[in-house]
Amino acid sequence: MELEPKTRKGLLYYVTVVAVVMLLLNIFVFPSLLQTRVTEVAYSEFVKMLDAGEIKQVQMNEAESVIVFSSEQTVNGKAQMMFYKTGIWPDDGLTQKLVDKGVQFTNTIPTQASPLISFVISWVLPLVLFIVVGRFLTKKMMGGMGNNAMSFGKANAKIYAQTETGITFADVAGEDEAKDALREIVEFMHAPQRYSDIGAVLPKGALLVGPPGTGKTMLAKAVAGEAKVPFFSISGSEFVEMFVGMGAAKVRDLFKQAGEKAPCIVFIDEIDAIGKKRDSSPMGGNDEREQTLNQLLSEMDGFDAAKGVVILAATNRPDSLDKALLRPGRFDRRIPVELPDLAGREAILRVHAKKVKMEDNVDYNLIARATAGASGAELANIINEGALRAVREGRDKVSQLDLQESVEVVVAGYQRKNAVISVKEKELIAYHEIGHALVAASQSGTAPVTKITIVPRTSGALGYTMQVEEGESVLLSRKDALSQLATLTGGRAAEEVKFNTMTSGASNDIEKATALARAMITRYGMSNSFGMVQLEQQSDRYLGGGSSLICSADAAARIDAEVAQLIGGAHEKAVGILKDNREALDALAGYLLEKETITGEEFMEILGKHRNAKA
Ligand code: ADP
Repeated sequence: MELEPKTRKGLLYYVTVVAVVMLLLNIFVFPSLLQTRVTEVAYSEFVKMLDAGEIKQVQMNEAESVIVFSSEQTVNGKAQMMFYKTGIWPDDGLTQKLVDKGVQFTNTIPTQASPLISFVISWVLPLVLFIVVGRFLTKKMMGGMGNNAMSFGKANAKIYAQTETGITFADVAGEDEAKDALREIVEFMHAPQRYSDIGAVLPKGALLVGPPGTGKTMLAKAVAGEAKVPFFSISGSEFVEMFVGMGAAKVRDLFKQAGEKAPCIVFIDEIDAIGKKRDSSPMGGNDEREQTLNQLLSEMDGFDAAKGVVILAATNRPDSLDKALLRPGRFDRRIPVELPDLAGREAILRVHAKKVKMEDNVDYNLIARATAGASGAELANIINEGALRAVREGRDKVSQLDLQESVEVVVAGYQRKNAVISVKEKELIAYHEIGHALVAASQSGTAPVTKITIVPRTSGALGYTMQVEEGESVLLSRKDALSQLATLTGGRAAEEVKFNTMTSGASNDIEKATALARAMITRYGMSNSFGMVQLEQQSDRYLGGGSSLICSADAAARIDAEVAQLIGGAHEKAVGILKDNREALDALAGYLLEKETITGEEFMEILGKHRNAKA
């Protein structure tokens, strides 16, 4: 079995320590232990030593029929007290002899333990011990369950109550649609009368749905902040308990507390932890979770919205929620909180940039364009990484370069400056990255990337290509998809054109290309033979979840063949493009190899030169 280097190191360390300890014990401790041992000798030896006057003390133990005696001996030139023992021998003259030699001698007095003490030791003490340990253990177990078995009805859910969140809608950038939907709730909290006068029933709850880190928690806090009401927050997982009924008790408790503090906002994060579909599996469902959900449903039905308690909940997995939870009268509103678009990203960057000292000329739009698909949390992190980098480099303001570098850090990890990569491999990587970019550029005619670097990253990437989108497109045309496929295969194509080899460096490209080609056929209806037929179903959209085929085995085999055909075609196209631009490929890769970084402008300049030379 191959051990991991870390484990192996730990093992070596452990073995060394044990060996050293054993050695020390052998040298110092054991000999001295052995020295104080009582040596057994013959009675004749005892008499001999007594006659020679070597014995200092004698103690007779008649109960065990032994005589223990000590004598001073010289061992290794040092005087040492040695202890001996011997069996009792009928020897009438012994006492006289001991007196003559001036030896100190005594007899051990047999001690008879008092019956009371022996009773305590053998009966009471173990009993007390058992009781104490037993109590301690029960207490521990109860503590682990978070509640005492005797007080089921009471819940101690961790509810985070904030009187003023201090967060307003202005702190949440972008997400205008979500804010609009929530603004009504704020208005209702300000003036419930207006709504009830006309006879309108107010929404009891809203469900915020979206990928992680898009600001759902923040939005909920902002609602409370805008309405200036207390904010109760609890995570769905807090309700999950070991005993049936306890989760439900927590729900009751939560609504009771909220009722007392009304008007207020109750925020339940990760509601899918309790709100999952109740299923009728033959194995028997999860009773506790279902009871908790039932309690939540009936509490939401039961409380009077006019009091001003609004329930907000967040989830990344809306598909898994129970239908009953989503019906009007409970979470009547479903508010999508999507990943920010270009304008949203720029706004989020600006909001977070306000908290740090920035140079004046920072181009947020550029950073926003380079971070397509990033969530609000990631963008906040980019600003923070930029600030950290500025401090590291001893500056007191964050610059554009800091932000650009931190985009790379957040996306691809830190640079591994001292990673050792052979010249040959570096050349391969350079060609690979340029291959992608060149195929992309030849198809679109514009700068395909902002920057390519071939410094290895801590994420394991060997190079990094920073892509900046010009505008934002929401639709993917078949032509674009095909050219994306060609671009993805461009890396491997370059390896083949230049070195006539294949490397594992293309594995990530292969994964992406396959996913895209598959989606084109099974979900986008871009295949000639299948047409507009859905062949695959996606689950957990917000968590990038997997998908499952919904077609016959025969169709699945045809899909596979078509995927291979699509990618094969794209690959051929990429090889063709690179062969036609061989000169530019060499020049660009040479440049990247030398400088380790190439920007979009430099790329286009070199490409233009070599195109012109050819023309
Ligand atoms: P979620 O609950 O959706 O997982 P959070 O609300 O906890 O995400 O957001 C995490 C962090 O990301 C926030 O603390 C905030 O700093 C940042 N963030 C996310 N979205 C936004 C946004 N739209 N505007 C400003 N900051 C945001």
